[in-house]
Amino acid sequence: MNRTVIRGGLVVTAAEEVHADVLVEGEKVVALASYGSGVAEGWTADRVLDARGLYVIPGGVDAHTHMELPFGGTSASDTFETGTRAAAWGGTTTIVDFAVQSVGSSLREGLDTWHAKAQGACAIDYGFHMILADVTEHSLKEMDLLVAEGVTSFKLFMAYPGVFYSDDGKILRAMQRGAENGGLIMMHAENGIAIDVLVEQALAAGKTDPRYHGEVRRELLEAEATHRAIKLAQVAGSPLYVVHVSAASAVAELAAARRQGLSVFGETCPQYLFLSTDNLAEPGFEGAKYVCSTPLRPREHQAELWKGLRTGDLQVVSTDHCPFCFSGQKELGRGDFSKIPNGLPGVENRMDLLHQAVVEGRISRRRWIEIACAAPARMFGLYPRKGTIAPGADADIVLYDPAARQTLSAATHHMNVDYSAYEGKEVTGKVRTVLSRGAVVIDDGAYLGRAGHGRYQPRATCQYLD
Ligand SMILES: [Zn+2]
Repeated sequence: MNRTVIRGGLVVTAAEEVHADVLVEGEKVVALASYGSGVAEGWTADRVLDARGLYVIPGGVDAHTHMELPFGGTSASDTFETGTRAAAWGGTTTIVDFAVQSVGSSLREGLDTWHAKAQGACAIDYGFHMILADVTEHSLKEMDLLVAEGVTSFKLFMAYPGVFYSDDGKILRAMQRGAENGGLIMMHAENGIAIDVLVEQALAAGKTDPRYHGEVRRELLEAEATHRAIKLAQVAGSPLYVVHVSAASAVAELAAARRQGLSVFGETCPQYLFLSTDNLAEPGFEGAKYVCSTPLRPREHQAELWKGLRTGDLQVVSTDHCPFCFSGQKELGRGDFSKIPNGLPGVENRMDLLHQAVVEGRISRRRWIEIACAAPARMFGLYPRKGTIAPGADADIVLYDPAARQTLSAATHHMNVDYSAYEGKEVTGKVRTVLSRGAVVIDDGAYLGRAGHGRYQPRATCQYLD
């Protein structure tokens, strides 16, 4: 069996930091040996990776991506092939993408369609959540089958009436089912019915620029929906995971629920931590590049999100990677912000941006690994196969240079999209080498992986509830 030794690095996991050598056999980590123990001296290997001066960290787990998602008459511009390759460049070795149930179709049809898109295409490992767009007696029963085959989380929408939207009764039924079968309900918490009224009024008043996207999707309507989702989950006796939290008042709702002892979890994304309504207001039509939902908020909200990540009221940072090119896709909304496809590219940037937060003293190194690797793996039933470096874990490992400097740019990124949301931003820290299940997929500026290396990952149920 192929043996690799990673020598001389600082191994950082969510639990500890230790100077240690790591032995990989085939696809798995088999041993760690701390310096001076003498243990690693006896290791023979086919390949030695020199990690002196580098961090040795678990590959990132991005639990929220939308490769090839059909949305607003177009499709997200990254395929499973291009998107997972870009993820690897950025040190992410697992994604959990969203299979979509269309209204009138079964969960099975949706899941099969997404399997067909991803099969043979991915550079790194992948799993699926299921978007429940049509809660019926049949789809509720299907939830049980999906949980049994490793699709253990279901996303519902309080937004997008007529597309993905579920009313409170449907949400309650799905939560009740999740409480029984162990499926975790993920919620897009915005009051879409009220938002649509404000959209209509804004457009009628001639307010058509991208910045109005942020104005009509009011913070209060995120907080209200978050509160309502929490109460519905409480009634159903189910846990709840709120996706892409952007408003300070929504964080407060989560924090209050957690203080009551409820199993309520929250995710935020790099765009809410680093970008703001200032970007949405950029002149010309540039603001369209930053249109996503929930929307970017005024800069003051960032401090509350960082605080939530430090206190543990927010547990996960995912990207909600859903790229649309500025040219030809975002431009569909010229003259009507409501027609701008919702979504930002980011799957390649998450590990670096969160490391930058370590550099700036916002979070610790171990918290970086926790929110980007370990917690998403635990939340979605992939731990400890993913999200840590330990004997028995998959050898998804990143050698990370904490001192390298880089400038984020569309000119150098690998996502299939014609702009970067972080164009020109300088960050300290860069991926040197990436292993996916023992195979080197990125090394020193070269992509060595292949489409089809990535394998489907059936998942256990949420491991925060055990
Ligand atoms: Zn999403």
